Amino acid sequence: MAAQTLTGPVSAHALIVKAAHFAADRHRDQRRKGSRNTPYINHPLEVAERLVVIGGVDDPELIAAAILHDTIEDTETTRAELAEMFGNAVAALVAELTDTPGQTWQQRKRMEIEHAATISDGAKMIKLSDKTSNVADTVSNPPGDWTISRRRDYLEFASLVADGCRGVNSALEAEFDRVMADARRRLG
Ligand code: ZN
Repeated sequence: MAAQTLTGPVSAHALIVKAAHFAADRHRDQRRKGSRNTPYINHPLEVAERLVVIGGVDDPELIAAAILHDTIEDTETTRAELAEMFGNAVAALVAELTDTPGQTWQQRKRMEIEHAATISDGAKMIKLSDKTSNVADTVSNPPGDWTISRRRDYLEFASLVADGCRGVNSALEAEFDRVMADARRRLG
């Protein structure tokens, strides 16, 4: 079903552009944790680009969900709000990509690994692109306070999450493996 807005059903292109505008607005005061201090929106746009250009995905709801994937987790956005603006399918995908807050980093990461294997195929493709983006950043744009050992720990965690997302899109898997191999080589 097409997403509903105040002006009625929208086209695939409109859905994607609206998602980009909405995400840019919600993330407007945020920066990536990395040392380069990039505007946060660069990350979801990169995830969506990987999905389309590498993964060959052309489902507008999946592309919109990739752009919106961090809005519930990292901004004031609710699932109901996304459902109203972008439709239930997009809202459900973003909800699947939202981590439950855990007590500790360790606990939260364990829950994310377990959860990744249970999500829908569409959500797995977005998650794989998300982890590829994060692994690439771990090498080229790491948070300033991350030691080499913390960065290596992140790679191990991302690799376990990616394992749960395999079997859905071989091009995205191959790209993840390539970026991960490069990261491991560089971080030793
Ligand atoms: Zn993300």
